[in-house]
Amino acid sequence: MTASAPSHGHGRPCLITRRARFSASHRYWLPELSADDNRARFGPCSLAPGHGHNYELIVAMAGPLDANGMVLNLSEVKHAIKAQVTAQLDFRCLNEAWPEFDLGRPEGCLPTTEALARVIWARLAPHLPLAGIRLFESESLWADVLGDTMEAFVSIRTHFAAAHRLAREELSQAENEAIYGKCARPHGHGHNYLLDVTVRGRIDPRTGMVCDLAALQQLVDDLVVEPFDHTFLNKDVVHFASCVPTAENIALHIADILSAPIAATGAQLHKVRLQESPNNAAEVFAEVPRLGATPELLEAALVS
Ligand SMILES: [Zn+2]
Ligand SMILES: [Zn+2]
Repeated sequence: MTASAPSHGHGRPCLITRRARFSASHRYWLPELSADDNRARFGPCSLAPGHGHNYELIVAMAGPLDANGMVLNLSEVKHAIKAQVTAQLDFRCLNEAWPEFDLGRPEGCLPTTEALARVIWARLAPHLPLAGIRLFESESLWADVLGDTMEAFVSIRTHFAAAHRLAREELSQAENEAIYGKCARPHGHGHNYLLDVTVRGRIDPRTGMVCDLAALQQLVDDLVVEPFDHTFLNKDVVHFASCVPTAENIALHIADILSAPIAATGAQLHKVRLQESPNNAAEVFAEVPRLGATPELLEAALVS
């Protein structure tokens, strides 16, 4: 190659993602537990013969560009995902499709979202230069796996509606309007807030769970949604009597409220993302010392 030959980016690093979908059923039922214990632990997920989800898989891959200007040839990526994952799982029962979820084996594990993401990583890793796997079970539940490890991130989405007014009581109305604009108007205004709570934890090798999902959802409902929903935050939530309820401060307060109770479930609160409108959101990483180890590549590529 001469000095003037085009390089097409050869050798420069890049992250790419590919989306795939499949539909599959599963059932949470451990043979070593009694019927009552299975029902108590897994609720409706224990019902026979099972239930299904439309899964959405996002595969993130990283590497240097080849001479053709690509990390990988996309047709090879599509083929690998189809051959190794979707063609094997689509319209199947997860408990039966892969031996990893055969609960008759001592090493078998319930096909939870995080366990499925982990197994997909293990099966795709020999074929693709993986950077991350994100698996949506629904738009309100997804899991991220970032390596060949039992660690996973599980996110749940919920929402609440609330009013607020942005103003600092020590300032005049004119000063507040200069800072907060229309958000400082005296009688407030409202938003339909979308709240994403992400926890990090180790996948239990038998239950496939980083924590009890129903317990996590209950904590978010009891500690955030119930006290915040259909309120005027400045007046109805004590913290915001003296702290201006910007999206940033609401997200920080939610993280403060949830950190200790979530830690008691065995997982760590990793991130709170509060979307105030289609145009603005605030994110708080609750594990400050781990901030540098967060999946920043994925966050940039996959945050919806
Ligand atoms: Zn399910
Ligand atoms: Zn507002």
